Amino acid sequence: MTTTIDWYNQTEEDEKKLILREYRALLRALKHNIKKGDKALLRHAFELAAEAHKTTRRKSGEPYILHPLAVARIAVEEIGLGVTSAICALLHDTVEDTEITLEDIKREFNNNVAKIIDGLTKISNVVDLKGDTTIQAENFRKILLTLAEDPRVILIKLADRLHNMRTLDSMSREKQLKVASETTYIYSPLAHRLGLYEIKSEMEDLSLRVTQPDIYNDIQRGLKETKRERSRYINEFIKPIREQLTAAGFSFDIYGRPKAIHSIWNKMRKKQVAFDEVYDIFAIRIILDAPQDREKEECWKVYSIVTNSYHPNPERLRDWISVPKGNGYEALHTTVMGPAGRWVEVQIRTRRMNEIAEKGLAAHWKYKEETPTAQESKLDAFLEHLREVLTNPNTDTLDFIQDFKLDLFTEEIYVYTPTGDMRVLPKGATALDFAFDIHTQLGARCIGAKVNYKLVPLSHTLSSGDQVEVITSSKQHPSEDWLQFLVTAKAKSGVKNYLKEDKRKTAEQGKSMLKKKMEHLNVNLTQHNLNELVHYYKKPSALDLYYAIAVGNIDLAELNTFAVYGDKLHHPHREIKHDTRELADEELLKQKHGKGSELIIFGERSDKILYKLAQCCQPIPGDDVFGFVTSGEGLKIHRADCPNAARLLANYGHRVVKTKWAKNKEISFLTGVRITGLDDVGVIQKITNVISGELRLNMRSLSLDSKDGMFEGTIMVYVHDREELNGFLNRLSALEGISKVERLESHEA
Ligand code: MN
Repeated sequence: MTTTIDWYNQTEEDEKKLILREYRALLRALKHNIKKGDKALLRHAFELAAEAHKTTRRKSGEPYILHPLAVARIAVEEIGLGVTSAICALLHDTVEDTEITLEDIKREFNNNVAKIIDGLTKISNVVDLKGDTTIQAENFRKILLTLAEDPRVILIKLADRLHNMRTLDSMSREKQLKVASETTYIYSPLAHRLGLYEIKSEMEDLSLRVTQPDIYNDIQRGLKETKRERSRYINEFIKPIREQLTAAGFSFDIYGRPKAIHSIWNKMRKKQVAFDEVYDIFAIRIILDAPQDREKEECWKVYSIVTNSYHPNPERLRDWISVPKGNGYEALHTTVMGPAGRWVEVQIRTRRMNEIAEKGLAAHWKYKEETPTAQESKLDAFLEHLREVLTNPNTDTLDFIQDFKLDLFTEEIYVYTPTGDMRVLPKGATALDFAFDIHTQLGARCIGAKVNYKLVPLSHTLSSGDQVEVITSSKQHPSEDWLQFLVTAKAKSGVKNYLKEDKRKTAEQGKSMLKKKMEHLNVNLTQHNLNELVHYYKKPSALDLYYAIAVGNIDLAELNTFAVYGDKLHHPHREIKHDTRELADEELLKQKHGKGSELIIFGERSDKILYKLAQCCQPIPGDDVFGFVTSGEGLKIHRADCPNAARLLANYGHRVVKTKWAKNKEISFLTGVRITGLDDVGVIQKITNVISGELRLNMRSLSLDSKDGMFEGTIMVYVHDREELNGFLNRLSALEGISKVERLESHEA
């Protein structure tokens, strides 16, 4: 709908008049439904909103207040909501976009209004399809949660969205696409589930117009071009029925109505046909005035009259009067053979049913006091079910949304419990879905079912009218392959939650098995070591690693082949380095200057600062050290007496970071010792005795060269710190026949 007013050339007077006219139209729409006190409140809401939005205009240039006014009218006229909702609709953008606070609303109106406005404010920004699907799903869940709290929030939101869709033209193309895709993703399915067929249909048509304008225009043109021919056909079809219904004393409306453009498009796509090959582009509707206690029989009488004139297709009869749809829809649908051999769909319903078909949930409220009918409790059950699933923290939202959306669009079947209670399930539902529908615990223990007294497996697909008795066993547990044949969101999330919980418990065992093994290896289950294992075994998460260990898919004996350095585990295929991570130079310099104080490093264990121990001097804890920010290799720690130290300090002072060691006894560092002495038979034995026997050091290599009765050797050994190294050097010097012992300046091994 395009507005033809040039908003920038309106006088203020004209605008005021127009705004007041819209307000009066809203009042008229509410006229039967408004008490004196409410009228004052409504007026107050209008004035407050008008004042708050005074300086704002919509993209089209129109005064902003026209939007809340339009939303309120949609809420009242098209959804059938009452005065409280109209007040909320008028105020729906105030808390978010203006100075008005929720407190103000609570004070000026009441708690109820404030709660609804709060809900509307919260969901207004949750839909953002730019984000990844997880975020979208999380947002959808939030919307459903508010729906479960007070359905009016969603109904007003739908009115808001519908008005935005109707006024998309002034938006940028990008914004149009965004709004349209949100609408098809979230709002039209919701409108459908709440029984708001008109709104759902209009939303889908408006979305199609934005997303596929060519197709939309083609179909619209097609409808226009065939309109005259269609009207003639419809009149011819209606004539005998009208006469007979009138003769039988019915009070009714009868008319033909083209189907929505998107639904014609769906048919063209599904059947791969062109527009003029789609036959049922219209349906005949008969709306009856009938007292509520005689609705059903009157509708069937009309059916009988229709089928006197035209032959029905028995396979296309739908009785949604005896058993309404899950969203509350009631009607009798039949398809009959009309003039010229064309199938024509005829929809028969009473005025009350028609109102429900158009206004959905809200119409149910209206009739609630008079008739506590079955479909209300079904809607209640739907809301209850939503609340249950959504508030379960274990539910994977993305999965749930997908399953839920499937639920929304599938056809329904009606099945019965042994005591004759009816349950509505989506088409294709199995005996196991039925069990979960009754209760999650019943589903979890289900081993089979009796359908119409015959034993069937869990995966048995149910048909409408089946009577189902669930058979359980306390020994039964849900299993992964159940997901293959389950179709309902409730059953699927029930099984998934169970499996997740089960996996978590099993993984706990795996974790303690791993811990025990690590104790044997003298290492802790640090984050580093855990990452190393997860990486090596190619598991997506620690949980999966633990689980694989618990069920025996990983042999812990394999850990014996891992190298252990200090508290670190290195898997056999990994090159041994002091670290594998790097930090950008800039980042380091920033840290340096930001802190200005000393950098404290924790041997190899620092999680915060990434560094390497310089290969040229192999510092160990206790050494005087400094950090040097290299170009490209991150922070390197050098000994203060490193041969390179002077050059680095002199030329690159700005890159030097003061560094000292934290006290740390758990980690050992590789260092080198050069030793010379008399080449005698027992010398290697003596040295290794000192290293492994007395000092219990971890030796990596020992190499000796003999020449002219003297030997020169290099020992690579792990020490914890400088103190331990000095002890080692002293002990070696004290050995008989050793002439010289010194720490390697630089390490060439
Ligand atoms: Mn709005």
